[in-house]
Amino acid sequence: MNRRDALRLFSTGAAASGLNLLPGGALAQEKPKALNGLSPVKIKDIKVILTAPDRIRLVVVKVETTEPGLHGWGCATFTQRAYVVQTAIEKYLKPFLIGRNVDEIEDIWQSSYVSSYWRNGPILFNAMSGVDIALWDIKGKRAGMPVYQLLGGKVRFGADLYFHAAGRDFAEVTDRAKQAMERGYRHVRVQAAVEGLATYGAGGPNRGTGAAPGNNDDVVGPTNPKAIWESGKYARMLPRLFEHLRKNLGDDVELLHDIHERVTLTQGIQMCKDVEQYRPFFIEDPFPPEDNAHFALLRQQCSTPIAMGELFNTQQEYLPLIKDKLIDFIRIHISQIGGLSPARKVQALSEFFGVRTAWHGPGDASPLAHAAQLALELASYNFGIHEGYVFPQNTQEVFAGCPEVKNGYMYAQEKPGLGIEVDEKLAAKFPFPQGPPDFDYSWGTTRRRDGTVIRP
Ligand code: MG
Repeated sequence: MNRRDALRLFSTGAAASGLNLLPGGALAQEKPKALNGLSPVKIKDIKVILTAPDRIRLVVVKVETTEPGLHGWGCATFTQRAYVVQTAIEKYLKPFLIGRNVDEIEDIWQSSYVSSYWRNGPILFNAMSGVDIALWDIKGKRAGMPVYQLLGGKVRFGADLYFHAAGRDFAEVTDRAKQAMERGYRHVRVQAAVEGLATYGAGGPNRGTGAAPGNNDDVVGPTNPKAIWESGKYARMLPRLFEHLRKNLGDDVELLHDIHERVTLTQGIQMCKDVEQYRPFFIEDPFPPEDNAHFALLRQQCSTPIAMGELFNTQQEYLPLIKDKLIDFIRIHISQIGGLSPARKVQALSEFFGVRTAWHGPGDASPLAHAAQLALELASYNFGIHEGYVFPQNTQEVFAGCPEVKNGYMYAQEKPGLGIEVDEKLAAKFPFPQGPPDFDYSWGTTRRRDGTVIRP
C-alpha cells in the first residue's frame, strides 16, 4: 500500500471501523470478539418431505440443528416440479450448508444464491426458500418469540382474507359470495365460467386434459386440441358479472378478479376500463410477466387497482413495476423468490411506492408458507390482503398448528417460530398422487380452437 492509498483508507474511516494496517503494508481485519449470550448452533441435517395430504403436492424442508430437539420447518413447494426441487436441496444445497451457523440467515441466503454460479429460477429459489423459512422458524424458537416479533411486531391483530367464489354461472358465483359474506369475509374473488370454454378458476372443462399414459392417439397437441379457450367472449362477459354482483351483493363487499393472463393487450385494458365503475379491490394478472411493459399502457387509461406477480422470480421482473407505480398489489409467491428473507425486502421496498402486499397463497403454498406470509403481514404497514385458503382436515393434521381462520381474518399461532409442527409419520401416509389428471399436468394443455396453446 502506498501513502496515497493509506490516506484514502484513513479518510474513509476504515481504520476506525476495525481494520488494522499491519507492518509491511498488509491489511487485516480484527478477529470478531466472541458473541455473548447465545451459543453457536449449527445445521446438522436438511431433510425434504414430499407430502400431499389433500392431493396437492407439497415440498417441505426440515432443518435439523446441533441443539437437541431444535429444528425448523420451511416451504419449498413448486408443486408442478416438486422432484426437481427435492434434488436441488438434497444433492446441492444440503452439502453446501451442513455445519453453517443457523443464526446467519442472510448470509446463508446470499451465499446459497451464488453457490450454483448460474442462479435464479423457480427450482433453485424454492430450494433456498425451504431452508430460509426454516431458519426463521429456528430463530423464532431460539428467541422464544413468534416470527412476526422478529420482523418488528404487530401493526394489526390479523390479516384480512379474500374468499374464492367461483361458479358455473352468475347465480352460483353470487350464492357463494353471499355464503362467504355470511361467514365474515369482506373480500371475495369472483370467477364465472364462460359457457363451453375452459375458463380459468371457475371449474368446468379445464382439468385432466393431458393424454392418458400409453395412449398416443389421444395426445393433446396443436392438431388435437381438447380444452378450448377463446378470450373475446370472456372479455365481454366480465363487466356483466361485476354489474350483476354489485346489484345483488351491494356496496359493502370488496370484489376481486383474476384474469390469469389469457387475454390480449387491448382486451386486458378494455376489461380493466369496463369494470372500473364497479370499483373492484383489484384485477389480477391482466398480462403475463413476459409482457411487463403492457402495464405502463394500462396505467395511463384507468384507475382500476392492479395486482401482479405470482410468476415472478427475480428483481428484474418486479422492481420496474413497483418503482414506477404501475401496480397496486405485489402478488409474489414467496417461495418462488427464495423465501421470507427476500419477501421482506420486497415488502419494505413496496411501502415506499404505495404498493401493498397480496402474496400468492392458494393450496400450493403450504401452511408453512402461509404462516411466513402472515408473520410479515402482521408486522408490515403496507399489507393489502391475504389470499384465503381454508386448510383441509388432512392438511391441518399433518401441519399441526396451522394459522387460525376466523371471521375472514387469519390469526398467528402465538408460539415461538412459525408455530407449526409437521407430523412426519402422518405426512408419509399421504404420498404424491402419480400421473395425470392431477394439478401439475393441467397447464400447457389449454388451447385456442385452432390449436394454439394458451399462456398459461
Ligand atoms: Mg393468480
